[in-house]
Amino acid sequence: MDCCLNPRFILYSIKADVRRRMMDIPVSSDVVVIGAGPAGARTAERLASMGYQALLLEREKVIGEPVHCTGVVSTECFERYELPEELILRKINSFVLRSPSGRAVQIKRKQTQAYVLDRVELDQELVNRAVRSGVSLYTEMDVRDVSWEDGKAQISCKIGSKEYQIQSKIAVVATGYGSPLSRKLGLSQFDSYVSGSQAIVDAKGIDEVEVFTGSSLGKGGFGWIVPWRENKALVGLLTREHTVSYMHALINKLQDQGRIGSILKTYRTRAIPVGIPRKSVIDGILAVGDIVSQAKPTSGGGIHYGMMAADLASTTISDALIQGDFSAQALMPYQEQWHAVLEHELNQGVKLRELIEQLPDIVIEQLHRLLSIPGAKRLLSSSTFDWHSSSLTQVLEKLQFRRRNFSND
Ligand SMILES: Cc1cc2nc3c(=O)[nH]c(=O)nc-3n(C[C@H](O)[C@H](O)[C@H](O)COP(=O)(O)OP(=O)(O)OC[C@H]3O[C@@H](n4cnc5c(N)ncnc54)[C@H](O)[C@@H]3O)c2cc1C
Repeated sequence: MDCCLNPRFILYSIKADVRRRMMDIPVSSDVVVIGAGPAGARTAERLASMGYQALLLEREKVIGEPVHCTGVVSTECFERYELPEELILRKINSFVLRSPSGRAVQIKRKQTQAYVLDRVELDQELVNRAVRSGVSLYTEMDVRDVSWEDGKAQISCKIGSKEYQIQSKIAVVATGYGSPLSRKLGLSQFDSYVSGSQAIVDAKGIDEVEVFTGSSLGKGGFGWIVPWRENKALVGLLTREHTVSYMHALINKLQDQGRIGSILKTYRTRAIPVGIPRKSVIDGILAVGDIVSQAKPTSGGGIHYGMMAADLASTTISDALIQGDFSAQALMPYQEQWHAVLEHELNQGVKLRELIEQLPDIVIEQLHRLLSIPGAKRLLSSSTFDWHSSSLTQVLEKLQFRRRNFSND
């Protein structure tokens, strides 16, 4: 195995890099990227590999921690970003969909659809790639403010009690959903969100992903068990409100059924935006990833969308650096391009979510039964993992459950 792909090596090299560079924080750079999640790490990596100076600033001490995410990515995402096999914990080619009463339907395909990755190792891999491309990484660097003044992005940050000011030609904000920087910068705000919670649990004999539906998981909520490392699984849910109490109820139910054992680690609750932002660029500053809702409104998955947007952002940034024009207008191609790629999917996802949130259990139960009619199950199983809204809409159509607002596009 290539030692560079070994997670231990990844951690070691990041620590060594931080130690080496910490003494010498530059006061200026071509680009400063704030937030070392998938969106930020990918943006920084791309820019450094194009030859630009890129600083990557991360608030946490350990890249990828604290983790909240299941780490499921499509095969499309895995292949596009040439992720290493070593990150794969499980392959997914089927899942069991449970109705509110517990009735099960298996949705299966011949080929692998998605992988469960260790999310901490994924983030570390992406950051390690960025560092290898020439990015200067600083952890424990809490960015307090970003502004555009005198033709430069001004970044105010803190390590412990020590304050730093860094200037750059362009700043990229990739701090995830709910970051106060979003409001400060006047980027689109989302009052509509779902929140997710997840735990690692002891679990023997869980070999297939299961998805739970119904009002016991809250409005429009769904839950999951995902097989993880040996004899361990991830149990989680995504819902509109009272996430923690619904999560407790789900865990208790699965424990009562003897399906899972004790909780090994509880993750923090995290929100995921639901909506389409109108503003993801301002003068000298772009926003990438969850902070501007580049996540699926249905399932909440955002790793792939954020990384795709990162690629578009880095191309626009490179053009702006070549032209020496950092105005919002010069950065607008990024916004137009990511809207062209993701807007339809996000719109459909929002409508689908709103529809599902209105369905009483009795209707979900009926829809679930109808899934066994020829065509509906086949359509659902032919849905691609990251671009599923149109096939889900077709399933509802097939079940004669189409609402007028789906045909308005
Ligand atoms: C329960 C749950 C399960 C999920 N499961 C999946 C899944 O299976 N697959 C999937 O694709 N998506 C999943 N998601 C969504 C996924 O986690 C996000 O879409 C993804 O992490 C967004 O990436 P990002 O880079 O935009 O932001 P983040 O991953 O949130 O990264 C932002 C980074 O910015 C740093 N930061 C924040 N503020 C500052 C600051 N002021 N200064 C410096 N650094 C800062 C943070 O520490 C963090 O490292 C899940 C979400 C939840 C809640």
